[in-house]
Amino acid sequence: MEVRKKYELIKTSIEEACRNVNRNPEEVTVIAVTKYVSIDRAKEAVEAGIIHLGENRDEGLTTKWNSLGDGPVWHFIGTLQSRKVKNIIDKVSYIHSLDRLSLAKEINKRAKAPIKCFVQVNVSGESSKHGIEPEEVIEFIKNLKNYPNIQVIGLMTMAPHIDNETILRDCFRRLKSIQTEVANMKLDYAPCTELSMGMSNDYQIAIEEGATFVRIGTALVGE
Ligand SMILES: *Cc1c(COP(=O)(O)O)cnc(C)c1O
Repeated sequence: MEVRKKYELIKTSIEEACRNVNRNPEEVTVIAVTKYVSIDRAKEAVEAGIIHLGENRDEGLTTKWNSLGDGPVWHFIGTLQSRKVKNIIDKVSYIHSLDRLSLAKEINKRAKAPIKCFVQVNVSGESSKHGIEPEEVIEFIKNLKNYPNIQVIGLMTMAPHIDNETILRDCFRRLKSIQTEVANMKLDYAPCTELSMGMSNDYQIAIEEGATFVRIGTALVGE
């Protein structure tokens, strides 16, 4: 199916999820995750009116960026090795995977201006998942005050890859509750108003639980 058609379907289901909980759909930004698809398919997404694109590897980002340049707003959503920061830092507007101080230090050093970051949280507790443990998030964010180029705009998580709605909802709720706690600290370098959560299988639930950025690959641009 054309990206344009898939995007229409997704926008409709986002509106439905927002209606369920009395939210304004304009609060939700769709990031098309292009990591599985060709440059042409990523271009199709941009032509369909999608502004935000996400990649999870520095090679993939560089390849797509070399073709599409600064037209789209780029998001880095994958695990980031410190030595790769220099390859992506001038290309992306958002980093969703800040999960350790050594990475913060490298981003801070390489960025030419403050960059919007999400702190990745391992809410599900799966050992395969990256991210800060929920009980360590506050302390981690306090420690980020020494890195002026890091602006903590929110928290990010990846829910477990399952269909159990109760477990998914619980995971998103827990992230929302930590986000609220951080936002209430009113730190100038960590407004933490945003929630990056929800993928192809669970974005409607994530939106019902407060997501402001959804990262959609398979359902939007394909595998
Ligand atoms: C691949 C990926 C996505 C998109 O996954 P889909 O299930 O294809 O929508 C979202 N977030 C991250 C971090 C990813 O790596």
